[in-house]
Amino acid sequence: MTDQNALEEVAIHAPTRYDSLRAVSKLTDQNALIKVALYATDYDVRWKAVERLTDQNALAKVAKNAKDIDHGRFILRGVMIKLTDQNELVDVAKNARLKYVRRDAMEKITGQSLLIEVAKYGNYCDACEEAMKKITDKNLLDDIAKMNSNSSHDWDGCQCRRCGETRSEFHDWDGCKCRRCGETRNEQHDWDGCYCKRCDKDRHDWDWPNTWLAVCQRCGREEEDDPTGYR
Ligand SMILES: [Zn+2]
Ligand SMILES: [Zn+2]
Ligand SMILES: [Zn+2]
Ligand SMILES: [Zn+2]
Repeated sequence: MTDQNALEEVAIHAPTRYDSLRAVSKLTDQNALIKVALYATDYDVRWKAVERLTDQNALAKVAKNAKDIDHGRFILRGVMIKLTDQNELVDVAKNARLKYVRRDAMEKITGQSLLIEVAKYGNYCDACEEAMKKITDKNLLDDIAKMNSNSSHDWDGCQCRRCGETRSEFHDWDGCKCRRCGETRNEQHDWDGCYCKRCDKDRHDWDWPNTWLAVCQRCGREEEDDPTGYR
């Protein structure tokens, strides 16, 4: 099989790691490698894809589009070590969804004009703030501060109006869930039998008809391991 799209399909969806890794080792198409690096379920397969990424723009695309911690901090570190192009780093600092990726990019940006670009047009307050710290021209700093107020978060309770980042205080609680950011807490649940209607919390009224089986007296759920941790 030589077709790059078919190889990409195998790399992401093959049932065995062996087949996926073999497919990645034949992949050269950078767009296909981006998708494997982001979406393959197997960690080793994603890592192999990152190793084969050579194009700076492709590396930046992986860095920008990684969405959550599940993408693997270690893999993204690898991406950020390989990414050296200053303009791509500016793009990552301005737009990457993950905070630690933006921070890695900021550490590698050196030129003053590039820092100014991030401070003025970055989409996330933390990167703007970091850029402002490194800009040495006082007059320029004043100008940027006048132009916009994006060097620090603009909090509306628990969430920043500008960049959307949340903090773990000033929530707007509606029972167990924050109206603004969706954070949950373990109080004031809205029980419907054993399950909370607002969050994924459950509670059960366990009884043991015999030593190895727990049965909930309310919903009938059965568990073989001791769900209370008492025995
Ligand atoms: Zn913000
Ligand atoms: Zn909140
Ligand atoms: Zn709840
Ligand atoms: Zn139950």
